[in-house]
Amino acid sequence: MGQKAERIVVKLGTSTLTEGSQRLHAPRILDLARQIDLILRRGATVTLVSSGAVAAGRERLGEVEGSAGIPTKQMLAAIGQSRLMALYESIFGFYDRVVAQVLLTRTDFMRRQSYLNARNTFETLRQHGVIPIVNENDTVATEEIRVGDNDNLSALVAGLVDADLLVLLTDQEGLFTGDPRLSRDAELIREVKAHPIPPELWEAAGGTRSGLGTGGMSTKLQAADLARQAGADVRIASGSAPDVLIRLADGEEIGTRFPRVESPLESRKRYILAGWSGRATIAIDPGAADALGRHGSLLPVGVTRVEGAFQRGDTVQVLSPDGRELGRGLVNYTDDELGRIRGERSERIRELLGYDYGDEVIHRDDFVLTGRRSEET
Ligand code: GLU
Repeated sequence: MGQKAERIVVKLGTSTLTEGSQRLHAPRILDLARQIDLILRRGATVTLVSSGAVAAGRERLGEVEGSAGIPTKQMLAAIGQSRLMALYESIFGFYDRVVAQVLLTRTDFMRRQSYLNARNTFETLRQHGVIPIVNENDTVATEEIRVGDNDNLSALVAGLVDADLLVLLTDQEGLFTGDPRLSRDAELIREVKAHPIPPELWEAAGGTRSGLGTGGMSTKLQAADLARQAGADVRIASGSAPDVLIRLADGEEIGTRFPRVESPLESRKRYILAGWSGRATIAIDPGAADALGRHGSLLPVGVTRVEGAFQRGDTVQVLSPDGRELGRGLVNYTDDELGRIRGERSERIRELLGYDYGDEVIHRDDFVLTGRRSEET
C-alpha cells in the first residue's frame, strides 16, 4: 500500500461517464459520487475534471449535420455543459454535497493574474467543502488557446491545486505494452518510473483510441508526465473497477502508477523563484520580516517601499530591512495599488482602493524564504 492521498484530482472522461454508450450513464456517476463522498468524509479533498459536455449536448439534440466541425462541437458543449452540471448537482445533492462549475482554457494557466485568481477560487471552494467540477471552456476556446483534451487539462489543474494524487479514469485497466483490444500479448504496466518517458511507451500509448472522447492513451501519458513533474502521483485506472477511487485514495496499487518526480512544494517553490523578473521589489519593516520568517503572510502595514512595475500574480523579491533578499513570493496587488496601501492596515485596503484582493500582500503559501531574518545574521 502506498500513502493515503489528501488532495485528489479525478479526471472523468466521456467513455467513463457514458459507459461506452451514447448517453451519460447516471448509475455510473452516482457510484462515483458515492465514492467521492466517502473520500471527503475522511478529510481529503476532491476536484473533478469532467468531460461529457459534448456527449450531453448530442444526447439532447440528436445527431446534427456537420457534427465534426468546431462550431457544432462548441454548440453541443454549450448545450451539454449545463445539462452535465444539472446531473452532477442532483446526484451530489443526494449526499448533501455542493458542486461548483469551473470552466478554464489554456490562457487561464498562462496568464499569472488569472492563474492566481483561479488558485484563490479553488482554495476558497476547498475551505467551504465544495466540489469543483472543471471542464474546458469549449464555447470560447479557439484552437490557439485550448488545452484541447481533458487529460492535459486535469494535469494543469493538479498543479494549480497542489494535488498529491491525479487519477485518470478510463475504460482500460491502465497503460498496456500494446493495445489490449488488438493484441493478446499486451500486458498491463504497473509502474512508470523512467523520466523522461521512454519512446517505446509513447509508441505503445499511440495505438489506443477510445470512441466518443477526445483523449486516447497518448494524451493520458502526456498528462501523467506533466502532473508527476508538478508533484502529484498519477494513476491511470479503470473507472469500472469496484470502489476504484476509494482504493486509490487509500494508496492501493491498482492500474498504472507514475510516482511523482518532485514534491508539490518543491515544484511550487521552483515556479515562484523562477518567476522573478529581476526588477520587482518590495522592502519591508522588521515586524513583517519576522512574520515572514515564522511562516506568516505579508500584510500591507509591513511594506515600506515598492520598486519596479509588477502585476498581481507576479513574483516579487522581498527585501529585509538590511537590504538583503529575504525571499520571493507571488504578489496580490500591483505596484501601483501597493504604493497606495503600503504602511496601512488591511482593513483600510477597500477604502483606499475601492476593492480588495484579501488582507495579504503575499500569502504565506505563496512565499519562499531564501534569506535569513536580519537578527539572525
Ligand atoms: N471538453 C469536452 C467535453 O466536455 C471533452 C474533452 C475531452 O474529453 O478531452 O465534452
